[in-house]
Amino acid sequence: MNTPVVSVVIPVYNEEASLPTLFERLYPALDALGTSYEVIFVNDGSRDRSAALLREQWERRPDTTRVVLFNANYGQHPAIVAGFEHCRGERVVTMDADLQNPPEEIGKLLAAMDAGHDYVGGVRREREDSWFRRFASRTMNTLRERITRIHMTDQGCMLRAYSRDIVAAIAASREISTFIPALAYTFASNPTEVDVAHAGRAAGKSHYPLYKLIRLNFDLITGFSLVPLQLFSMFGMLVSVLALIAYVIVIVYRLIYVHPDDALAVFWDRDILAFFLVGMMLFGLGLIGEYVGRIYHQVRARPRYMIRAVLERPSDEPVERHVRSPQ
Ligand code: UDP
Ligand code: MG
Repeated sequence: MNTPVVSVVIPVYNEEASLPTLFERLYPALDALGTSYEVIFVNDGSRDRSAALLREQWERRPDTTRVVLFNANYGQHPAIVAGFEHCRGERVVTMDADLQNPPEEIGKLLAAMDAGHDYVGGVRREREDSWFRRFASRTMNTLRERITRIHMTDQGCMLRAYSRDIVAAIAASREISTFIPALAYTFASNPTEVDVAHAGRAAGKSHYPLYKLIRLNFDLITGFSLVPLQLFSMFGMLVSVLALIAYVIVIVYRLIYVHPDDALAVFWDRDILAFFLVGMMLFGLGLIGEYVGRIYHQVRARPRYMIRAVLERPSDEPVERHVRSPQ
């Protein structure tokens, strides 16, 4: 059995409008690389015609195409993990199905791997997204950079290349709420980044409305850092010390001047201070809830996804399922 050199993993969720153009551009771009390759599409429970289009493409190019069909929508990152479990290439590339990551850029990532890097992240210098998305991404990127030990310039770019070892390690990680680009960094020994082009969505609209973006970023921060929880104990300590100092000042003040309408009374508003502290406490509780919720998900140890079918030629079934960890 000949295993391909490069595997391209693409999660697909309701992308019927982009898929035909993706097929048209992806395969020629990969042919141009001059190496053997396979493309693994993971249909993440699409409700449109995506699954049918993927099946047609598999029938057209069964030699280089494999399709994993989920039975429901589990999310972009679980879909990529499933792709990692089914791919066979020495080098694995991830990209989006909506052509925001030009397939013609894959060669750049592989060139960086030729230079000895085991993980290559894409960086979108000119991003074709709304100003709000760009602003939110930049803010979260800076925050993540500060509170986790992961250094990447563009956490949201999914055009990335990974060595087989890293892919195997990610597939073996039993994390449920995970963020692949960050997880890969924890396993990489010689990571690097290259600039890649970015385009507007070919068709359809983003699957990340504000709520899902916030959830994703909680996954990223809580999955890779305990700093938010530690910040809370720090803040608690700071508040206690300040309260103690304020108490001493107030008592001394009262002992010296017992005037009712003084400056301190102007600044000291117990209600507002109490509201502020209650707000911080609720936020802290919610934050603990985020971590506890994740622990709860993890200890239930449910499978991360269910696969309805895998479209592949019988001879293509990976011989060693070493990347599939016992469950
Ligand atoms: N996607 C997925 N499952 C989801 C949401 C998205 O597999 O629940 C896929 C989607 O089909 C696309 C990629 O993940 O290939 C990125 O999604 P999208 O383009 O909506 O995100 P954005 O570019 O807006 O960050
Ligand atoms: Mg997109």
